[in-house]
Amino acid sequence: MVTEIVKFALENNVSVIGLEDLTGIRDATLKKVHKKRKHTHSSWAYRQLQTFIEYKAREAGILTHYIDPAYTSQTCIRCNHISKNNRNRLSFECEICGYQNNADLIGAMNIEHKTRDFRYILESQGSLSTAQTIA
Ligand SMILES: [Zn+2]
Repeated sequence: MVTEIVKFALENNVSVIGLEDLTGIRDATLKKVHKKRKHTHSSWAYRQLQTFIEYKAREAGILTHYIDPAYTSQTCIRCNHISKNNRNRLSFECEICGYQNNADLIGAMNIEHKTRDFRYILESQGSLSTAQTIA
């Protein structure tokens, strides 16, 4: 799976892979470790996966960038309004503009946007020359 991600990135001239920074989540979950042992374990496994992706990507000359996931599933991708009222479990509905979508999808789209922003900064500094981003 990791090899396929890196292969896809190479084939599509992806220069930066955006990954969700779960450090905050992991710390928060550790405090509730007795209640949510399963979730802590899956966060840890996901972090291991990220480390592996980062390693394989670096071998291929691709950057990985960690995105702070705070508010990513509460931020409207249409009007940028941030509110926890935008999210109701798995569904997202912006309380300002009414935009609706799956909350996890909104989170992924916002992480992609943040990764693109990071790539633009690198490009403007002349640190990158290639064209696409995967998140
Ligand atoms: Zn909105």
